[in-house]
Amino acid sequence: MKVLVLNCGSSSVKYKFYDDDQQLAEGLLEKIGTSQAQLNHTVAGRKKIVEVHEILEHQAGVELILRTLVDPEKGVLKTIDEIQAVGHRVVHGAETFAASTLITDEVLAKLEECIDIAPLHNPPNLAGIYAITHLLPTVPQVGVFDTAFHQTMPEKAFLYAIPHVFYLRNHIRKYGFHGTSHSYVSREAALMLGKSFEELKLITCHLGNGSSIAAIDHGKSVDTSMGFTPLEGLVMGTRCGDIDPAVPLYIMNKEGLSLQEVNSLLNKHSGVLGISGVSNDFRTLEEESAKGDKRCSLALDVFCYRLKKYIGSYVAAMNGVDAVVFTGGIGENSDDVRDRTLSDMEFLGIELDGAKNTGKKRGDAACISTDASRVKVFVIPTNEELVIARDTRRIVTDKAVN
Ligand code: AMP
Repeated sequence: MKVLVLNCGSSSVKYKFYDDDQQLAEGLLEKIGTSQAQLNHTVAGRKKIVEVHEILEHQAGVELILRTLVDPEKGVLKTIDEIQAVGHRVVHGAETFAASTLITDEVLAKLEECIDIAPLHNPPNLAGIYAITHLLPTVPQVGVFDTAFHQTMPEKAFLYAIPHVFYLRNHIRKYGFHGTSHSYVSREAALMLGKSFEELKLITCHLGNGSSIAAIDHGKSVDTSMGFTPLEGLVMGTRCGDIDPAVPLYIMNKEGLSLQEVNSLLNKHSGVLGISGVSNDFRTLEEESAKGDKRCSLALDVFCYRLKKYIGSYVAAMNGVDAVVFTGGIGENSDDVRDRTLSDMEFLGIELDGAKNTGKKRGDAACISTDASRVKVFVIPTNEELVIARDTRRIVTDKAVN
């Protein structure tokens, strides 16, 4: 089945086009809303195409992507009718969506309701759905939610200790994000262990521009570090992660900052960027730290220490762990972060093999723990778009059968 996967952000659309599990094309359209929108389009085995267009809103962006896919020189399709389904990444499914779902009018109405708790993320996701509804009205669409995998968390893990009325009335609770990635790499880890997913205790660390960690007990997410929003938990590139909630209140009062300014401070100017004052890119932090920059080194230490504590707490929460998995741009590529995080964890049965860790080839899945390590450590490249394509295929096929 030929499936288009769309990931619509506030000013960008990422896309991948699949024939079953085979990826035929991928691309990224950035700076939507300007006359300088840039399209990067790649087809396997051909030269990458870069174009600049005036694209003022998402529908025009999606239209350009569809035109590119059927273009005789740039594309991979003879006609647009070859697209059999479209899968969308949807960031927030609230408590309404615990699994990927066929988009219907009823589902769209519920997604509109979710905007209230995800005002930044869900509107562009919905814009992508509406664009396809307009441009390909007969093609089935599926929503795949970042939050869905974590809907199995028990109340004790997802409730905040604030008056219960805010949960009941305002739906304030931990939701967790990156669910598609945690789900994918944990199942891949089970395959690498040669065991059933449902019999394992796993900890998955998705470390990228946004970072989160999940505890997956017998096939179910039982805890995760991101919360009501993707700001909670681990230290991130520019987000602060866990912080005493009194700190923003204190800063607002002392420095006279507005709600919006503090929001921007915690989301865009904090994390390893805030500590180092240099960069949110771990490649730069590692280079500068190696040259002796103390604050870059400190930023890496704070990041890895927070991650180490989360791993320890999830081992405690699950009463053990069979494997720890690293994924995401940092998790897959930074042997330094993996080493700093997992050193001195022998007490918990985690022993990293230094040579395997540094020798791991980019893009490969690998086991990087010693043969004697009770807990296996894996690096597994994530593939969220493939999960979206597979879920879309399954749901659309089921619908055709029923
Ligand atoms: P992601 O959001 O998963 O695409 O991850 C992006 C982040 O991965 C970048 O901001 C970098 O900090 C990090 N990254 C990518 N390649 C490397 C590398 N070779 N070493 C360390 N960090 C890397």
